[in-house]
Amino acid sequence: MELPIAESWKIKMVEPIRKSTREEREEWLKEAHYNVFQLKSEQVYIDCITDSGTGSMSDRQWAAMMMGDESYAGARSFFRLKDTITGLTGFEYVIPTHQGRAAENVLFSHLVKAGDIVPGNSHFDTTKGHIESRKATALDCTVDEARDTQLELPFKGNVDLGKLEAALKEHGDRIPFIIVTITNNTAGGQPVSMENLRGVRALADKYGKRVVLDSARFAENAYFIKTREAGYADMTIKQITREIFDLADAMTMSAKKDGIVNMGGFIATRHEDWYEGAKRFCIPFEGYLTYGGMNGRDMEALAVGLDENTEFDNLDTRIRQVQYLAARLDEFGIPYQRPAGGHAIFVDASKVLTHVPKEEFPAQTLTVELYREAGIRGCEIGYILADRDPVTRENRFGGLDLLRLAIPRRVYTNNHMDVIAVALKNVFDRRESITRGVRIFWEAELMRHFTVKLEPAK
Ligand SMILES: *Cc1c(COP(=O)(O)O)cnc(C)c1O
Repeated sequence: MELPIAESWKIKMVEPIRKSTREEREEWLKEAHYNVFQLKSEQVYIDCITDSGTGSMSDRQWAAMMMGDESYAGARSFFRLKDTITGLTGFEYVIPTHQGRAAENVLFSHLVKAGDIVPGNSHFDTTKGHIESRKATALDCTVDEARDTQLELPFKGNVDLGKLEAALKEHGDRIPFIIVTITNNTAGGQPVSMENLRGVRALADKYGKRVVLDSARFAENAYFIKTREAGYADMTIKQITREIFDLADAMTMSAKKDGIVNMGGFIATRHEDWYEGAKRFCIPFEGYLTYGGMNGRDMEALAVGLDENTEFDNLDTRIRQVQYLAARLDEFGIPYQRPAGGHAIFVDASKVLTHVPKEEFPAQTLTVELYREAGIRGCEIGYILADRDPVTRENRFGGLDLLRLAIPRRVYTNNHMDVIAVALKNVFDRRESITRGVRIFWEAELMRHFTVKLEPAK
């Protein structure tokens, strides 16, 4: 009999978690204005709000932290991190930042100005925020197939090259660069193929543009290329990673994802002019160039995390756990963005809560119901997250309305996955009785989902 595949690690330290009662959760929901970002973590049993900064570091990472060099300038830890990044990506210039959005802020301060258009696949919310706050436009050129959650395709995160070329033709001078997000978080953690990245590169070259990779989950993307794209099965994750970045000019990175650290990020590029430009903004916004928002010890942990998470077994364990949860949802007939993404399951709320009108935010309603059911915290990736159109100030109902269950790296076991699946089934079973959603009574102008205040719609 063939042996099953188990986790590629064992557990050395644990953190207790606690269940709550339905009455407690009802009260907490009210206090949180039906926004799960406003809950205290002690009020949560299984936390799938994000996979960002919530992973478990390895013993090697903790050991590396003791070697942190906290020198203000020229720290050894910076060079260790830089050498690791250069080794993986080929990018010679590295600027550490305190997290991914800070990398965007620093790089875009140099590159993006009012009236610009930045095309790519789906822009992550902070990426879009940093573009739109500069009065520029984030143009989503994702393949149309990504919008059909039930379509089973290997690379639903891809850029539609036709749409991209049309944008390049039409807006030429107003495009400072192309940005491709790997994996495509907004489209459901869906990967981008190497073939597609080559297509983007060819168009970029044809129109004289540079390509930035928003690389938060580049290692998971490399895993999907290895396991799904012809010609890559025998290559290592590190070889595939290198091939990915050979097709790009720069990257912004949220190290809280595939770096498996709790905080951190960076910019890396092969172009001295971009480095020189970004440097001017790193110093006032983040800090001096050899720490830019990170501790020496955190740069050490990140260097190890990047190395570990570009090994196949670590990624295989992770992606298989997400696929395990997906298989349980299949058993119950619960619709989600297919195939399962790299870091999360995205439940298609519009197909579950069919009686809740879009004006009452079905995915947010489902997020609240799942918490109410079992203390499981997911996250709305839908109409609330989509913010309002910056010009018309209307809600943007054009995209998908999803409940994301993000799985932290190396944190939960498959027993936790079973609890999530059954809790969701219980909500699914009473979906016909859920007819009203939530309404907004207070919201911020930008990135409203973090602080929005809601109440049950009546
Ligand atoms: C998380 C994320 C970011 C922003 O990074 P932070 O570390 O949260 O600031 C940018 N892009 C993508 C694709 C992300 O997943």
